Amino acid sequence: MNSVEMQASGTSAMQVWQAQAMETRQRVWGDVPDEKWNDWRWQLSHRLNSLEDLSRVMELTDEEIEGLSAPDKFRVDITPYFATLIDPTDPKCPVRRQVMPLGRELRAFTSMMEDSLAEDAHSPVPGLVHRYPDRVLMLVTTQCASYCRYCTRSRIVGDSSANFSRQEHEAQLDYIRRTPQIRDVLISGGDGLTMPPKILDRLLGDLRAIPHVEIVRIGSRVPVFLPQRIDDEFCAMIRKYHPLWINIHVNHPREITPELREACNRLADAGVPLGNQSVLLAGVNDSVHIQRLLVHELVKMRVRPYYLYQCDMVEGAGHFRTTVSKGIEIIEGLRGHTSGYAVPTFVVDAPGGGGKIPVMPNYVLSQAPGKVVLRNYEGFITTYTEPLDYDPLEIRHLESQIPRRTEAGQEGIASLLEGRQFAIRPQGFDATHARGGEMHRLRADSSKWQPFLVGETLEGTAGGGDQPAIEAPAQNGEGE
Ligand SMILES: *Cc1c(COP(=O)(O)O)cnc(C)c1O
Ligand code: SF4
Repeated sequence: MNSVEMQASGTSAMQVWQAQAMETRQRVWGDVPDEKWNDWRWQLSHRLNSLEDLSRVMELTDEEIEGLSAPDKFRVDITPYFATLIDPTDPKCPVRRQVMPLGRELRAFTSMMEDSLAEDAHSPVPGLVHRYPDRVLMLVTTQCASYCRYCTRSRIVGDSSANFSRQEHEAQLDYIRRTPQIRDVLISGGDGLTMPPKILDRLLGDLRAIPHVEIVRIGSRVPVFLPQRIDDEFCAMIRKYHPLWINIHVNHPREITPELREACNRLADAGVPLGNQSVLLAGVNDSVHIQRLLVHELVKMRVRPYYLYQCDMVEGAGHFRTTVSKGIEIIEGLRGHTSGYAVPTFVVDAPGGGGKIPVMPNYVLSQAPGKVVLRNYEGFITTYTEPLDYDPLEIRHLESQIPRRTEAGQEGIASLLEGRQFAIRPQGFDATHARGGEMHRLRADSSKWQPFLVGETLEGTAGGGDQPAIEAPAQNGEGE
């Protein structure tokens, strides 16, 4: 019976997938006793990567053979556990598509980049990406339990010769130690949970010893690829480092198995708040219906959908990319239609660097002083009547009790709204608009461009450059 027939006969898709996985384990690994199968070290050392290994599990297609035979391909490695989740007869199986190389992944596309998020350009030391004011991404290893074809870090991931050394970990930690604005450290890679347990334990301990690091988070696909790793020993270790958050990475409900549920249960019982990050992938999960089942299965195991990422413009990922509108359509189909807890934020990670940009359907239809016209998920259109006597300054008294943030990176639209600066100018704006002209009598006094009461730390109006600016240069001090 195929899955469509099983569904028609009333058995849910989840049960069909589970039965198929058990069949594959019996067929391919029937002689492996449970105690080996459930040992994460056995799983890691028996990963599949060759044509021969993989043809024992599934009927390989010509394009898969082409992908597997390509000399410069991104690393292939699949844990036996994850391989059992593959439909052996369906080349379009969503689990299979994520980890099996295809010939077409080598195809170039417009705007493709090796490091499309410019992470290495934003790294003051190797592997430490400091893009946002108060948090850093700490790449601790290039190794993963299995490798995703669309990996945004394929430039280093999978390459053990590019792995981070003890000295580089120390340099990362030193940077965090001497940068007090960092209150949140996100451990990723590669996958930190593939590191030897002692090394991970020590690294977490070193981070926890830094007083200004308030929270530590780990982004890991180990619960999905290697749920056996989330054993009692691991949970006891992780408990020492609270507040510690973990984001897992599930893309399709077919990846949600009793083993993954058990791993999430253990983590949640160890006090770890769990989130999920998915990548929107063509032919894998670019469907409202698939996403709805996915998020429902996630919240059932105490995992809150966190981000749904637009697929990055990274080499190797071309055939996985969708339009941005597909993500908007998915959010349109989730928000309001299901629990708010189950709705992720859809984000485009800014190509060229700049971080995650949330994108969503438009819910604000129009505005006038005192009125906002909104629509809900059903198309019901309503009016919110705004108070005309609202005093946004009344809160100042309470606000003054809270410390202000002064570190770099506080510019942006929020600073325009706060009145800390007046305008944001693209690079070269002042020079372009000076039109190469001379300093003349009408340009000499730049104070005429200083907006009254804007910018709290006015540093005089002389500005830094020798070209007079069209706009008041006094605000430059703020963001630089
Ligand atoms: C995603 C990311 C973070 C964390 O972003 P949040 O929105 O806080 O989850 C931090 N640094 C970098 C470089 C990232 O890509
Ligand atoms: S687990 Fe994450 S880092 Fe590893 S290959 Fe997959 S996407 Fe890349």
